[in-house]
Amino acid sequence: MRPRIGITTFVMQNPRKPFAAVSRNYERSVQKAGGTPLLLSISTSKDVLDDYISIIDGLLITGGEKDVSPQFYGENPIKELEMIFPERDECEMYLFKKALEKRIPVLGICRGMQLMNVAAGGSLYQDIFSQLPDALGHLPLKMPVDELYHQVNLEPESTVSKIFGTTRMMINSFHHQAVKKVADSFTITARSDDNIIEAIEHRTHPFALGIQWHPEDLTARHPQFRKLFDAFIAQAQRKN
Ligand code: MN
Repeated sequence: MRPRIGITTFVMQNPRKPFAAVSRNYERSVQKAGGTPLLLSISTSKDVLDDYISIIDGLLITGGEKDVSPQFYGENPIKELEMIFPERDECEMYLFKKALEKRIPVLGICRGMQLMNVAAGGSLYQDIFSQLPDALGHLPLKMPVDELYHQVNLEPESTVSKIFGTTRMMINSFHHQAVKKVADSFTITARSDDNIIEAIEHRTHPFALGIQWHPEDLTARHPQFRKLFDAFIAQAQRKN
């Protein structure tokens, strides 16, 4: 059996009813790398979440709507905080902690990386552009999602640097928040030239990576980004 990859979803509000949603680029990238995507809808039931954990071989914590609620790192919202949906935060934090416990490989993308850091006791900049006035561009909303935008420097010997086979590369970028205090259980593995944290990895878990950019939007046009999903699925295969 192909490794089963649980992919977290968000609630898309529609005028008539809510939808469980996620970008198809995640499940396409997982399928292309040999995994079977299973979309996990948000649940407040521990039984349901425990069932998810017992079924999956890998956990992909996705980006998308919207900001992690600052209550989970002990702050009140600043004016620039965008939409929050604490139910999603709690669901994903629970899944992440269980995945760590069960040694299930975890890949967190964009908001997913921020969520992992908060779940592990770290904090976030609620809005880079107001809290770090010297930051460069990280949110070019008018650009296509598969366009490379800024450089990142990867820590030599880190898992991401080994996966991509380089210590400096161009990536896309669509975020207005970033990791502030990195959790003790994580180490920083990539930064942009303006020092924003762009990747983290867990110190002791065999494969728990957070990536601040959107590799899932790049795999079709820039094959080098498939290496990340290949590495993730290979880890899930081993667990399987
Ligand atoms: Mn960025």
